[in-house]
Amino acid sequence: MRKEKLLMTPGPTMLPPEVLSVMGRQIIHHRTEDFTSTLDGLQESLRPVFGTDGPILVFASSGTGGMEAAIANLFSRGEAVLNVSVGAFGERMGRIAEAFGLEVIDLSHEYGEAADVGRAKAALEGDAAGRIKGVLLTHNETSTGVTNDVRAFAALTEGTARLLVVDAISALGGLEMRMGEWGVDCVFAGSQKSLMAPPGLSFTALSEKAWEATRRSDLPKFYWDYGKYRKGITGELAENPPYTPAITLMMAQRAALDLMRAEGLANVYARHARLAKAVRAGAKALGFAVFPDERVSSDIITALTPPEGVKPTELIKAMNDGYDVMVAGGQGKLKGKILRIGHCGYSEADDVLRAISALERASWGVGHRFGPGAGVAAAQREIMGGSA
Ligand SMILES: *Cc1c(COP(=O)(O)O)cnc(C)c1O
Repeated sequence: MRKEKLLMTPGPTMLPPEVLSVMGRQIIHHRTEDFTSTLDGLQESLRPVFGTDGPILVFASSGTGGMEAAIANLFSRGEAVLNVSVGAFGERMGRIAEAFGLEVIDLSHEYGEAADVGRAKAALEGDAAGRIKGVLLTHNETSTGVTNDVRAFAALTEGTARLLVVDAISALGGLEMRMGEWGVDCVFAGSQKSLMAPPGLSFTALSEKAWEATRRSDLPKFYWDYGKYRKGITGELAENPPYTPAITLMMAQRAALDLMRAEGLANVYARHARLAKAVRAGAKALGFAVFPDERVSSDIITALTPPEGVKPTELIKAMNDGYDVMVAGGQGKLKGKILRIGHCGYSEADDVLRAISALERASWGVGHRFGPGAGVAAAQREIMGGSA
């Protein structure tokens, strides 16, 4: 007899029972009042998570769809963007911008580093002609376990003609975002990471400055055309949204947001921070190193370098096969070098303890030696607020 497999991957994440039960309901039609109230409720619950009063666009897509839509709607032919990349997902945003013919000025960082505001400031100051129309930034770089200081970047673009475009696919719902207050122009997120819903939805919110840019944008788009979705929301277009929405996923997402609201957003963020501390403490007690500088290490996903002689791929397989805990490996350049434990969304102390216990037993199983119980004890101490 085995317990349900525990996904501790940085998306998709486990689903709360309240969300699962919604997924089993009969479908409703999308041109009905029932659906309209689902969409309105979803907008209403997402606004505080984004920190905006504006409309939230909901696409049936993975996060990358939301990323592509942002590029296609905010910029125009021949424009330049500064791509502040700290890992694989930052690189992806640059490649999308290139695919749309934008001139991409690369400001990439070593993997494990956080985005350097000073370097970005210098690059923007060096662009006296104002060719750079946007700054592309990842809130939480899921491939390296690094969180960037979005607010500091917003200070560079606020009050200028430039747009700050933020990939918050993994961050939104797990890390604080106050786009209105901070002056962020475009934020997009995915349903399957910190937002506790199944994969398949992306959400996007824009500042007024960004909406202005969408009116000028001449890049090709049809399904992704923000303008049509906005008109649906304002009533200028009879169909809202313009195309058949992912109805069931939207209902599931709404149920997940109800849970987050009941917990309180500040408590949700504090829970993630506490779990991150426990994961770091547990892993370090077993001889693992946190891959990025701990000051910029993410609260929603922890990237770890294993001790000498321990191969991440073997460890991940042992955790999965032996203990039913699934964690992720490295991507791209980090393949085979790190392992990544996701603790975003529907994650609690019990899950982290089970994951650290699995990490501990799997490490022992591949021949690594330490004082048995060291990892679990260290994680438990953090969970108990250092009082144990
Ligand atoms: C997961 C992720 C993506 C890709 O999202 P998909 O839903 O797989 O398309 C992009 N950026 C970040 C930061 C992510 O965490």
